[in-house]
Amino acid sequence: MIDKILVANRGEIALRVIRACREMGIQSVAVHSTADANAMHVRMADESVCIGPAPSTQSYLSQPAIIAACEITGAQAIHPGYGFLSENAQFVQIVEDHDLTFIGPTAEHIRVMGDKITAKETMLALGVPCVPGSEGGVTSLEEAKRLGAEMGYPVIIKATAGGGGKGMKVAASEAEMERAFMTARAEGKSNFGNDEVYIEKYLQKPRHIEIQVFGDGKGNAVHLGERDCSLQRRHQKVFEEAPGPSISPEERARIGKICADAMANINYIGAGTIEFLYEDGEFFFIEMNTRLQVEHPVTEAIFGVDLVREQIRVAEGLPMSFTQDDLTINGHAIEVRINAEKLPNFSPCPGKITQYHAPGGLGVRMDSALYDGYSIPPYYDSLIGKLIVHGRDRPEALARLNRALGELIVDGVDTTVPLFHALLGEDDIITGDYNIHWLEKWLETNLGEA
Ligand code: ADP
Repeated sequence: MIDKILVANRGEIALRVIRACREMGIQSVAVHSTADANAMHVRMADESVCIGPAPSTQSYLSQPAIIAACEITGAQAIHPGYGFLSENAQFVQIVEDHDLTFIGPTAEHIRVMGDKITAKETMLALGVPCVPGSEGGVTSLEEAKRLGAEMGYPVIIKATAGGGGKGMKVAASEAEMERAFMTARAEGKSNFGNDEVYIEKYLQKPRHIEIQVFGDGKGNAVHLGERDCSLQRRHQKVFEEAPGPSISPEERARIGKICADAMANINYIGAGTIEFLYEDGEFFFIEMNTRLQVEHPVTEAIFGVDLVREQIRVAEGLPMSFTQDDLTINGHAIEVRINAEKLPNFSPCPGKITQYHAPGGLGVRMDSALYDGYSIPPYYDSLIGKLIVHGRDRPEALARLNRALGELIVDGVDTTVPLFHALLGEDDIITGDYNIHWLEKWLETNLGEA
């Protein structure tokens, strides 16, 4: 049995994990950099350990410091949250070598899915439909041009190690191929230390639909439907909803079963997300994230389950607390990401919060580590909160989001809240008629974003 968990993260996701621990009667250990000494996750955990200076490479990414913190506090397991070390196979190996439990998938699954080329090959072999593209890596510009001509432009060149929207470049024609190819390789090299790239057909108007999966590591796996995360800026999600407004129950059951069967087949353990582009009724796999996602609360809302609790259960060797038949959708949920950023350019806006008031009431969940007087440090990402609303149907969820956004007070820094107020007045958002390019176009027209 696990009775103490170290949370190797910060911000709202660290609180999220600490909350699940507390409800399960498990002790929690927070780790923090010197810049986060006054952070809410440090206050809320049962114990805390300072693991280094402000830069995350010397603190939240410092594997020796995190292992040492486990040894000092007697924590038996590590929950990585998302980002930082959550998809680092080498770290998982080290954790296990120290007889600690990593709350997440195996090092091998992380390795396979972390390399997008291997992930695609694996998924194809498991019967999951993929975006048409090169078979494996593309090593020369000549080969890239040949493939471009064969597939037809536009195409997208992607770094196999890429993530967070980095290492992806679109080529609209052969003339653009050289630049796109070289830039994707260079970004792969500089951000991920790997310049291998591959090519895919660039879909013109897809939606981003992702399937939440969950496995017990013993050959049992379920799906928890989809999330539509098409509203993106620079390939980064800003607004997510479940169920997807364009997905029918039959389509959900079909693609969900393909995903759950694939996960059962590989004995996947824990939470995972299989991401697809969806166009003209067809799903095309793009990548798998082997961790909890930022947007997991919309799934929790409609299924009434606690995904972090399930992660901890299966890490302990217990079965999942639900089967596929237990999982039925109740209503509609929407999440908006509240970033400390200044519009129209979304430039980071760290600083002191002079006043904070979280919205409440029926169907409202605010996941945030903010408090009155908190200073947002400039060293980390700009997500300061997630507002999640749940209603009996989509119109009710939209009305609730509007109401809750109106109650939220974050003074002292600029945030992305005005963006959501504006979006809620748009017909396409009200009817759910948008794709992955909708937001970029809207921003260009309405905010004159460069
Ligand atoms: P990352 O790992 O950086 O998040 P993904 O492969 O998940 O990269 O892609 C992120 C986003 O990029 C997708 O949600 C979609 O908006 C866009 N994208 C990726 N592949 C394609 C494609 N083949 N055609 C069109 N858009 C794509």
